[in-house]
Amino acid sequence: MASPPPGLVVFQPLERRRCAECRSGPLPLLVLEHGEPRCLDCADLGHLVYLPRGDTALTRRAREASGLCAVVVRFHRRRARYERQGLLVEEAALVHAEERCLADVQARARRRQRDAARRAAEDVRFTAAFAAEIRRLFPGCPAERALAIAAHASVRGSGRVGRSAAGRALSEAAVRAAVIAAVRHTDTPYDRLLMSGVARGEARRRIASLTETTLRKWRDTPDRPPGRPPPPPTPTRTPAPAPAPAPAAHHHPSP
Ligand SMILES: [Zn+2]
Repeated sequence: MASPPPGLVVFQPLERRRCAECRSGPLPLLVLEHGEPRCLDCADLGHLVYLPRGDTALTRRAREASGLCAVVVRFHRRRARYERQGLLVEEAALVHAEERCLADVQARARRRQRDAARRAAEDVRFTAAFAAEIRRLFPGCPAERALAIAAHASVRGSGRVGRSAAGRALSEAAVRAAVIAAVRHTDTPYDRLLMSGVARGEARRRIASLTETTLRKWRDTPDRPPGRPPPPPTPTRTPAPAPAPAPAAHHHPSP
């Protein structure tokens, strides 16, 4: 701005100036009245507080809340223009504005916490569903292995199979791929072969039958003896007394 902005303007003087009314000075800030410098007290602005520029939201809120408000400018000689340095606002307005900005910060923090909690809950649900699908396709896969494979496959943002669209949909192909990868790395010497310099294709050929054996076992053999019901979930309270044993009639059928 080549000339001062409209409205109440307070200047940071470039030279030592004294108040034309009370003779105080040199003045850090002054108001021009009829071309003469006045200190803020003589200009009835002494009760205002200075808010330097920089925080847009705080500045806007303080200006809106302040009944009386002045723009502080300084003339930049080389650029030949007035430059805005900040605002003079009522202290109560500044306090109010600071509280609202702080509330925003806290609200954002609370929202981030809620989002993180929701994502964590989604991850837990997704991992559980993935593990259940593994156990459906591979009944012989131990429960804790299924959970570990599912957790590994569904690590957020990892780009692993569990996070791909197919994995999201729990497609059989995605679940199988995760299980095969886990067996390869955990139940065979695949990683050791790779580390010892065996080419990947050759390493895969060497472990193929071992991988297939484990997969077949998991696919065909349930994790528990056939005919026994699945173990009950861990009780959260004192369990009820066990039901009376079923009649033994069928245990030893007559020849
Ligand atoms: Zn004065």
